[in-house]
Amino acid sequence: MAKQEDIFKNVVSHAKEYGFIFPSSEVYDGLSAVYDYAQNGVELKKNIREYWWKSMVQMNENIVGLDAAILMHPTTWKASGHVDAFNDPLIDNKDSKKRYRADVLVEDHAEKINQKAQKEIEKARARFGDAFNEEEFVATNARVVEYLSKYKEILSRLAKGMTDDLQDVKALIEELEIADPETGSRNWTDVKQFNLMFGTKLGASADSAMDLYLRPETAQGIFVNFLNVQKSGRMKVPFGIAQTGKAFRNEIVARQFIFRMREFEQMEMQFFVRPGEEMKWYHHWKETRLNWHLSLGLGKENYRFHDHEKLAHYANAAADIEFNFPFGFKELEGIHSRTDFDLKAHEQYSGRKLQYFDPELNENYVPYVVETSVGLDRMFLAVFATSLQEETLEDGSTRTVLKLPSVLAPTKAAVLPLIKRDGLPEISKKIIDDLKWDFTVAYDEKDAVGRRYRRQDALGTPFCITVDHQTIEDQTVTIRHRDTMKQDRVKISELKDIIENEVSMKNWLMKM
Ligand code: ATP
Repeated sequence: MAKQEDIFKNVVSHAKEYGFIFPSSEVYDGLSAVYDYAQNGVELKKNIREYWWKSMVQMNENIVGLDAAILMHPTTWKASGHVDAFNDPLIDNKDSKKRYRADVLVEDHAEKINQKAQKEIEKARARFGDAFNEEEFVATNARVVEYLSKYKEILSRLAKGMTDDLQDVKALIEELEIADPETGSRNWTDVKQFNLMFGTKLGASADSAMDLYLRPETAQGIFVNFLNVQKSGRMKVPFGIAQTGKAFRNEIVARQFIFRMREFEQMEMQFFVRPGEEMKWYHHWKETRLNWHLSLGLGKENYRFHDHEKLAHYANAAADIEFNFPFGFKELEGIHSRTDFDLKAHEQYSGRKLQYFDPELNENYVPYVVETSVGLDRMFLAVFATSLQEETLEDGSTRTVLKLPSVLAPTKAAVLPLIKRDGLPEISKKIIDDLKWDFTVAYDEKDAVGRRYRRQDALGTPFCITVDHQTIEDQTVTIRHRDTMKQDRVKISELKDIIENEVSMKNWLMKM
């Protein structure tokens, strides 16, 4: 099997070569952790967004949409806690002048120890075969016990240092003799907090300009509009407000392609509930969101929940849906029970009431909130990386195929005239003119038809429709299926139904 690193490199280069993702402003050598979505990427991204929007807004009569501005009154971020607490702990290496996230240095070090334990476990599994009892081995093998207890001890000391005293994190780095990964130097500064928000200014003259932030999350735009939406939409608790849009974070360790970006897009939904009912809804949304992911058919084994033990100051329950990315299981989506923290904070800072009158209980209250928050770019990476496959065919040749869930595929069908004359291009264009009202379709007449098939496979196009001389006689074409490579002869008049049946959001979302 190919190494994880190679798989990931392949994902990045395929995304560029086939027009999905380019580095931002590449002519100037790019901008770190900022990316542009190209002609195919923008379609895939739009389809993921629509798949989310449809399941959230269109399918739920008590959830409505919103598109709040990126720029917000700066007090928003004071109230939300971002000005004071949206920090990463930074450490500089005095020799190399390189800057790192102190917690990441420690986590990476701990992970190496964990990997040693995992290697022992895998070796034992190979040795004992079916008779292997992992639980017993992990509990009794001296080396594994030592590695795992060291691993856990480091993480728990890190967690404590992060909340109590950053000097303890520095001490931990020194004690573990963690070196600069690039130069090996162990000459570190103290650990300092660094705010992740990007600042900017509103207004023309230097004295009157107001300091603003680019929003680091979309959620606050929903909170400050809570009462506007509730009143104008006559919404009754429980109800939700959904929003997709850009967020900005000045991430220090920005790596892993579009997994951690400085400008990214979130898809968030805040669900407002009666105080005391938040746990019921928290569990409801955990399950619903996992089912949404599973409906895409990328494999149940690629998802897992990670329940948070240490909670953010505003939460009384939180879990991540983690996905098996090419570099391991990492957060894809967060589900948080945020209590009434945000609405209460905005009441306090604005001096306005943000309460709901519940006609059934005949009382006013600040609703509790359950949030679901998924990164659109991370979702893109999850779908794209898992779909990219190398297949060995029966004749021993290989093909690269992007087995995207067809509902998300940028192009649903490519129409290919077998040759460039005898009226075949004209018929092809007529087919396209008919299909393009319902689907994104492409035309390709260049190269031998086999090569054109391979190109569409690499782009993830579910169907290739080939027009040949028989088409002129009987109005039939061959339709080739991307995943099976099976070809059927069908009537032109049947094409729309065949494609619709395979790619319609309804059919996919019904699997939820
Ligand atoms: P992480 O721990 O990975 O930094 P987070 O816990 O800070 O993520 P949240 O604030 O809960 O993330 O944001 C919700 C979602 O937004 C995440 O689950 C992720 O999918 C996405 N997201 C957060 N930060 C980034 C980023 N820098 N680039 C791309 N997506 C991001």
